[in-house]
Amino acid sequence: EAFANIGKRDERVGAYLTLNEEGARAQAAALDDKLVSGEARGLLFGLPVGVKDNMVTEGLRTTCASQFLSNYNPIYDATVVARLKQAEAVTIGKLNMDEFAMGGSNENSSFHPVRNPWDLTRVPGGSSGGSAAAVAAGEAYFTLGSDTGGSIRQPASYCGVVGLKPTYGLVSRYGLVAFASSLDQIGPITKNVEDAAYVLQAIAGHDAKDSTSANVEIPDYLSALTGDVAGLRIAVPKEYLDGVDPKVKAAILEALCVLEGLGAVWEEVSLPHTEYAVAAYYLLASSEASSNLSRFDGVRYGVRADHSGNLLDLYLESRSQGFGPEVKRRIMLGTYALSSGYYDAYYLKAQKVRTLIKQDFDQTFDKYDVIIGPTAPTTAFPLGSQVGDPLTMYLNDILTIPVSLAGVPALSVPCGFADGLPVGLQIIGKPFDESSILRVAHAFE
Ligand code: GLN
Repeated sequence: EAFANIGKRDERVGAYLTLNEEGARAQAAALDDKLVSGEARGLLFGLPVGVKDNMVTEGLRTTCASQFLSNYNPIYDATVVARLKQAEAVTIGKLNMDEFAMGGSNENSSFHPVRNPWDLTRVPGGSSGGSAAAVAAGEAYFTLGSDTGGSIRQPASYCGVVGLKPTYGLVSRYGLVAFASSLDQIGPITKNVEDAAYVLQAIAGHDAKDSTSANVEIPDYLSALTGDVAGLRIAVPKEYLDGVDPKVKAAILEALCVLEGLGAVWEEVSLPHTEYAVAAYYLLASSEASSNLSRFDGVRYGVRADHSGNLLDLYLESRSQGFGPEVKRRIMLGTYALSSGYYDAYYLKAQKVRTLIKQDFDQTFDKYDVIIGPTAPTTAFPLGSQVGDPLTMYLNDILTIPVSLAGVPALSVPCGFADGLPVGLQIIGKPFDESSILRVAHAFE
């Protein structure tokens, strides 16, 4: 069914970069035997999954939507991919994204943009735009995305699906091509909250191959889906309602009414450092990216420029040809922010702001169980409308970036429509308390 839908729709949606039809059918055929043998089945038995193209898959091309890696065939599986296999999900292909996960509209893919299945003239969000659009279009049962500053939650919101960014460290990033290592997290994009709980169960947990992987006990996420939110204390930051599209705000307030009707209580609070989050994030994320992306030199991975005179030219030409404009912008910004003389003024200052933002969350969680607001200030915008204006594009992340800087978990669940386009409700939890946000989202759904 997934391949049939891809055949029917993907020419217009553009969610996939590489299909694994032969491999998937072979894997599914091997699972078929189990159907009759009565052997125990994996948690995700037989479910077709699409994987964002920045997670490496053994023998299956992994491009990060960059020309630089257009010929790259990894020799191993990312830990999440291995865990999906263990749970007996079937990998059907690799999903389009913004190049190296830098972007918020999927227009920075060097192959082709992705279109929003709800309205093909609009963006699906980014950078996991392919992952969100594929679920919305029925081109996969579920997908994996990665979120550095909002790239799971924002596209989930624009495409009317569920997207969960786990706590930093809960899911292994071994085999995820690094963008900003202190922020990157992998998480599920699904049709509903129950599916998100299943997928998280399969991929969460310590991995010795990732030095930032947390060694915490993994709870039974499914048992959190009780429907009971009576007495739950919800904080609603006023900074998350000011300045958002009035129709988005109306959908969020309606969702809060529903939760109130289920016995939860909500109060307005302030996260005073919110306004500095975007500036701090773009300094920190770009700094880390400039360092991480130095490994792409035309020697170790991917495409090498021809006819280079000497080694320096080889690096220069391979990088000039391999990277797209947004990636170059980030590398230059990051290199500048890290250079001597500017380090204290930019990088160090941004780190201090990050600590203040984290403290905003800590203080709020002393009194409240979850924080709720919109996932994004607007619904999906028209393709081409912001691509020439990176600052406007960066400001779309204002409601997802603080969570990323603080390292806490958050989930986007559809909560209604504004002018016929889906609106996402963002539910933010305490570190490693994915159970609570799943419980609230499930009760609401
Ligand atoms: N839109 C943000 C950026 O461009 C977030 C990207 C992400 O989370 N990967 O950096």
